[in-house]
Amino acid sequence: MMIGLGELQTLLVRILAGKGVPEPQASLLAATIAYGERDGTKSHGLNRLQGYLDSIACGWVKAAPSPVIQDVAPGLLKVDADNGFAQVALALARDAIASKARSLGLASLAIANSHHFAALWPDVEPFARDGLIALTMVNSRSRIIVWNGKRKALGTNPIAFACPRQGKPPIVWDQASSIMSQGDVLLHAAAGRPLPPGMAVDREGRPTTDPNIVLDSGSLLPVGGVKGSSLAFMVEVLAAAFTGGRFGFEDESGRFPGAQTSNAGQFLLLIDPTRMTGSTFYPRIESLVAELYAAGAKRLPADRRYSQRARSERDGIEISGGFEALLRTGT
Ligand code: NDP
Repeated sequence: MMIGLGELQTLLVRILAGKGVPEPQASLLAATIAYGERDGTKSHGLNRLQGYLDSIACGWVKAAPSPVIQDVAPGLLKVDADNGFAQVALALARDAIASKARSLGLASLAIANSHHFAALWPDVEPFARDGLIALTMVNSRSRIIVWNGKRKALGTNPIAFACPRQGKPPIVWDQASSIMSQGDVLLHAAAGRPLPPGMAVDREGRPTTDPNIVLDSGSLLPVGGVKGSSLAFMVEVLAAAFTGGRFGFEDESGRFPGAQTSNAGQFLLLIDPTRMTGSTFYPRIESLVAELYAAGAKRLPADRRYSQRARSERDGIEISGGFEALLRTGT
């Protein structure tokens, strides 16, 4: 089935609204899911829809939260997401935090009591398109073993960074602190495919390639060994301790059978790149990019997504059979 972005979003809004998500909030979530499909971030597109629905249905996530924004300091805003999805909280603070960053040179947003179940690049790319450097990170329930430990202690804790360019789309990277995202493990499980070796261990700490063992009781490994452990730790500090959100190990989703999301936090830092070196920032980024290509880089992070986006906008978004039924019936 091929479908346009608008039609996909309309179907998603209808499904989410059917679960009690108010229309403006449903539109934000629908956009995040649809953008994942459009850009080929399959691990965090329609693959996640059932998880959103189940997490709402079991009462783990509020379908209709009332997030509260608080002006904490000149360069700092906080949003209590009221146990709702993080995209709703971010939308509430978006204009105010960008305006603070422009007037002060930099500003940060702390979101607590929130559920982030998507890719992070949709959170930062728009800020970079508006000329701001954006860095964000989200913590999640414990899924990885760190610093060669014995059991999982930190989440897959993704980080995304977006750098604006003049007259060109921003450079955006977005990656988990784990060697593989949980979403990718779910995709492998759904397809009945083993994981590549070296991604995960079972509950006894023995290497496993069985995605179902990982989902059930195993752990993922951090990206880059102890260095990925340190990144995951930093995310826990900024997205949970700093924001006032829950640490991954404080997860209580087990009390809500069917819950798939994490009640955690998100940290966002915005920087006006022209405040330090004026307009020379942009030509300097271009000289850096030229050097990277000259040194053999084949592409920049986000280029794959931008190409896929262009294909989707031209030909439509391809939806596989299983998701087609879910989209049509909402169950
Ligand atoms: P990937 O390994 O797929 O990609 C990581 C980054 O590397 C991307 O920005 C990608 O750009 C870039 N990249 C990959 N190959 C190249 C290359 N050859 N040259 C240049 N850049 C390259 O990401 P992960 O599997 O770690 O994460 C997938 C998604 O899961 C992310 O969107 C993340 O936010 C999400 N996630 C969400 C969580 C949550 O709690 N909400 C938890 C964990 C992960 P490109 O996209 O262009 O390929």
